[in-house]
Amino acid sequence: MLIVPEKDIADLMTRDAAFDAVEQVFAAMASDDAYNFPVVREAIGHEDALYGFKGGFDRAGATLGLKAGGYWPHNLEKRDLINHQSTVFLFDPDTGKPAAMVGGNLLTALRTAAASSVSIKHLARPDAKVLGMIGAGHQATFQLRAALEQRAFDRVIGWNYHPDMLPNIAKVAEDAGLPFEAVDLPGMAEADVIISITSAFAPSLMADHVSPGTHIACMGTDTKGKQEVEAALLARATVFTDEVAQSISIGEAQHAIAAGLIAESDIHQIGAVINGAHPGRTSDTDITLFDGTGVGLQDLAVAARVVDLAQKKGIAIHVDF
Ligand code: NAD
Repeated sequence: MLIVPEKDIADLMTRDAAFDAVEQVFAAMASDDAYNFPVVREAIGHEDALYGFKGGFDRAGATLGLKAGGYWPHNLEKRDLINHQSTVFLFDPDTGKPAAMVGGNLLTALRTAAASSVSIKHLARPDAKVLGMIGAGHQATFQLRAALEQRAFDRVIGWNYHPDMLPNIAKVAEDAGLPFEAVDLPGMAEADVIISITSAFAPSLMADHVSPGTHIACMGTDTKGKQEVEAALLARATVFTDEVAQSISIGEAQHAIAAGLIAESDIHQIGAVINGAHPGRTSDTDITLFDGTGVGLQDLAVAARVVDLAQKKGIAIHVDF
């Protein structure tokens, strides 16, 4: 069995490798070569922690395993540890023997950023110039950095519920040589691509804040009750997702479905666009919306990639098990 500790991930994993891994596994999901297991998420009654498992099997990539982890809200204040903690375990699909244990914290950020990037590659207009960010927390910096690689953006605009956090994303834009401007929510009408990545439980972005031709990646809503955009926006848009079952239950689409504004059959897998089975955007005026709920197979795909890289560099730790 191989171990790749959290401290080694930053030197091993690249945004390009995460992008390729996530794009491939989304495609495998749409061609039924890979599937996710039902998610387990429990309030364990200790340290106010939420703990759970996201797993799956990718037959095409021969990747079997799970990510175990969750959210410990007092880690930072009590122990100077980050609140999100996760570890990925991979198993040999031929034998069931453990194959690898991999630090999952940075990988989660990279695979989530890769998901919105994959959606931009396949759904945004080729001539997109203005990137709009809603959210300015930890994950927003990753989403922005990865998105900037997908189109020749010339400007970043941003809104955040806590405006004092906006310098986090302004810095990423400026490091990439692009001007950043804080806007109000109606100002998002200038954006060609919008990424929302907040922990909100009520919509910020309304249907009339979005211009025709925009691509929106909704990345924050990964739990029942969370919501970032008005349900009516999903009715205006062509809706894509990583996995339909998660989109309608824990994703942004849960609200539009509950309100009867869209049906499950209106939601398409992004993998079908990658595979060429769905045309994706069909005009310059379509609004496309990607509901990125976060699936276990993304975690396994990036972890498998990191294990390969660690082996090539000779830094994976071998354990007889
Ligand atoms: P964070 O705590 O660093 O940032 C939270 C963000 O949400 C900040 O921009 C904050 O201002 C904003 N926010 C807080 N309360 C709000 C409110 N009431 N209305 C609007 N905005 C509000 O968290 P993070 O690590 O950046 O994660 C952001 C979200 O993304 C979380 O909800 C997390 O669960 C989710 N997430 C999703 C995936 C996925 O695969 N889809 C992966 C990782 C994280």
